[in-house]
Amino acid sequence: MSLKRLERFIKWVTNSANRKLQKPPKGSGKRIVFLDRDGVLNVDRHVTYRLEQFELIAGVIEGLSLLQALGFEFIIVTNQSAVGRGWISEHDVDRFNQRLIYELNQNGIEITMERIYICPHDPIFGTGKYKKKCDCHKPRPGMFHTAADDYGLELTECYYIGDKMSDVLAGFNARCKTILVETGILDDIHEYPGVSPDVRVKDLPKAAHIISGELAIEQMYTTGKFVAPFGAEICAALQLTHQGVNSASFVYTREQVSKWQR
Ligand SMILES: [Mg+2]
Ligand SMILES: [Zn+2]
Repeated sequence: MSLKRLERFIKWVTNSANRKLQKPPKGSGKRIVFLDRDGVLNVDRHVTYRLEQFELIAGVIEGLSLLQALGFEFIIVTNQSAVGRGWISEHDVDRFNQRLIYELNQNGIEITMERIYICPHDPIFGTGKYKKKCDCHKPRPGMFHTAADDYGLELTECYYIGDKMSDVLAGFNARCKTILVETGILDDIHEYPGVSPDVRVKDLPKAAHIISGELAIEQMYTTGKFVAPFGAEICAALQLTHQGVNSASFVYTREQVSKWQR
C-alpha cells in the first residue's frame, strides 16, 4: 500500500471528524445488502437450476461473513425468466434455492427462503401467465419495493450487489447503492450504455471490504470518531484501490459521504 496515500486519507478523516458534522438521514436502521443470485452467489450456468451443477462462487462465504459480522442482513433478488419461457418450473427454482440456502446456512450465513424474491416473468418471450410486463423483472425495481414493504426498509440505505448491467440499473432504479462484481457473465454491457455502478470490484469479499469501509465513515459521521475495528477495513478498501482493482472506489466513498450529509 502507498504510505503517502494512507497518510493523506488519515488526514482527511481527521479533518472531517473535526468539522461540525451532520448525522446521516434516519432510516429503518436495518443494514441490508441485496444480492443477485446467479453469478454473485452461485456459478451462473446460463440456465441455472440443476442441483448437480450447483457451485458456490469462491469467496462468497468470506464476503458474506464479513458483512454479517458488521450487522448486515441479506435479501436475494433474482430474475428467473427461464420459468416464463417454459424451460424450467417454479419448483426447479425453489429446489435450487433450497440448496443455496442450505449451503449458506451450513457455512454460518443466516438467511431463509423467505428472503429470496423471484421474478419468473418474461415480458417478451414468456408464455401464458408468465408473459407479462411486470414490475418485478430487473432492471425494474419491483422486487426491491416489495422487500422494502415487507421489512420496512429505506432503500437509499441499502446496497445491491449484482453481476450484470441490468442489475446495476435495477439497483439504481430502486435507489440503492450499487456494486458490480466480476464473478458472473457480464454480457449486457452494451445494452445499457451510460449505466455504471457506484463501485466495480472483482468479487464479493472485495465488495464487502468497500461496504465496511463506507460503514466506518458513516459511523465516524454519527459518532464523531473513527471506530475500531472498521479502521482496519478502510485500509483494506484502500489497499484494494491501490492494487488497481477499482481506482474509482475510494472517490466514490467520499462522494457517498457528501450524499449522506445532504
Ligand atoms: Mg446474475
Ligand atoms: Zn416479474
